[in-house]
Amino acid sequence: MFNNRTNIESVGFQVDHSYTQLPKVLYSVMEPTKISKPSLVIFNDALAKSLDLDFSMISDSDKAEILSGNIRIPHSIPLAQAYGGHQFGRFTYLGDGRALLLTEHITTQNKRIDIQLKGSGPTPYSRGGDGLAALGPMLREYLISEAMASLNIPTTRSLAVVMTNQKVRRQTDLDGAVLTRIAQSHIRVGTFQFAIAQGGVETLKALTDYTISRHYPNIKEENLYFGFLNEVIKAQAKLIAKWQLAGFIHGVMNTDNMAVSGETIDYGPCAFMDTYEPKTVFSSIDYSGRYAYVNQPAIAAWNLTRFAETLLPVLDKDQFLAQTMAQNAVDTFLPLYKVEWLSGMRKKLGLFSEQSEDEAMFSELLEIMHKLKLDYHLTFITLTTNIGELENHSEFVEWLTKYRIRRSNQRESVNESVEIMKSVNPAIVPRNHLVEEALNHAVELNDLSKLYHLIELLKNPFLYTSQQLLANMPSTTSVIPYKTFCGT
Ligand code: AMP
Ligand code: MG
Repeated sequence: MFNNRTNIESVGFQVDHSYTQLPKVLYSVMEPTKISKPSLVIFNDALAKSLDLDFSMISDSDKAEILSGNIRIPHSIPLAQAYGGHQFGRFTYLGDGRALLLTEHITTQNKRIDIQLKGSGPTPYSRGGDGLAALGPMLREYLISEAMASLNIPTTRSLAVVMTNQKVRRQTDLDGAVLTRIAQSHIRVGTFQFAIAQGGVETLKALTDYTISRHYPNIKEENLYFGFLNEVIKAQAKLIAKWQLAGFIHGVMNTDNMAVSGETIDYGPCAFMDTYEPKTVFSSIDYSGRYAYVNQPAIAAWNLTRFAETLLPVLDKDQFLAQTMAQNAVDTFLPLYKVEWLSGMRKKLGLFSEQSEDEAMFSELLEIMHKLKLDYHLTFITLTTNIGELENHSEFVEWLTKYRIRRSNQRESVNESVEIMKSVNPAIVPRNHLVEEALNHAVELNDLSKLYHLIELLKNPFLYTSQQLLANMPSTTSVIPYKTFCGT
């Protein structure tokens, strides 16, 4: 099946397929669906280089052939992964219904990554779906996942989007596309749920051992499985704190969309909050607000409880003891999350030391922002660059006095404080209206210039240039309420 037209060997794929050593119930080896006339829409050169993949000898049309699955990566064993998941609280068997793990690749630093296609055709897990994806949602995932990476939030990455020559039937006919996604792995909480439900304890144990050696090889605890559970909980506490601090709303925190590596995964209906409103929900299918901004930490704890339950058979032979261990581990999540969030807020406000009143001060700030319906991002930018402006709001005066005293009582100068604030309060985020405008131009008008421009701006979110700051202005004409879709 090798295609000699292209010099694919020159890319330097270091192919491996460790996942195929796992019990077969966990995956289905299969060929990618052939795509007629794929064409490259966007390619992430910097990401390719950082993974030691050299595409310099590969033409755009051959990139499209490789990253649509038409040209086989030599020695790779493509497969679709099985998983389950609690979707809005209900357990379902799922799996890569429209994705395919092309290969694992080992970088020169010995890092193992997954190279996955999304939108690449039906698989045994498609459940009647077409296995396809539309151009808009794939570009959206590319844009937002790359913005998240630049914001220093752990995330899957996007290597390319390729357009297929095939329409995707949704409410209307849409252009089809395939995204190439890079991840530390695609092992989800839902993969463990599937393993125990379909494969039993031996499968669960094999998957757990595999995941420990792949993601958490340095566990110190004597009971490796307990250590593993704690590590996953820690990684999620860090991740969710980063989401909350960034005003990021994932939108569909089902257990199948929670990666045990601690990376943000599955950019469907996600979006950044604009006006500070804790109850913000953008997803058109989240009728009850289950995945609202304010609920994200509690939902993560809920998901991790499902994860801990799944691990019970390997935690200890004595199931009573196993339950106690699981409960103890899960109980650490919210306190760990709180520590991370507080530490992030201190940075956002340029505070170097910890004080017991900090939490109350942060809550007061958020209450004022909520009351005044302030833009979440602009408020932190103003605190960073032009704090006096906030005095125009009488509600702010008392808080500002307290804050200034707190800041002047630290050894570090105000300049040092502003520096740290600039390093964590982005001058630009992918605001909904910016994303929509760029995607509309790309999809409706076939004009990618706005998308490219936005991607460039979002590469440097902590550059306080007038260009970044101007582009970051909230929309004055946005459709309210903004709605996002799963993009299936
Ligand atoms: P998501 O909402 O993208 O996390 O998808 C949830 C589940 O539905 C996953 O198992 C997907 O693979 C599957 N899925 C989503 N869209 C499609 C589609 N068009 N065809 C087949 N499966 C799909
Ligand atoms: Mg998903």
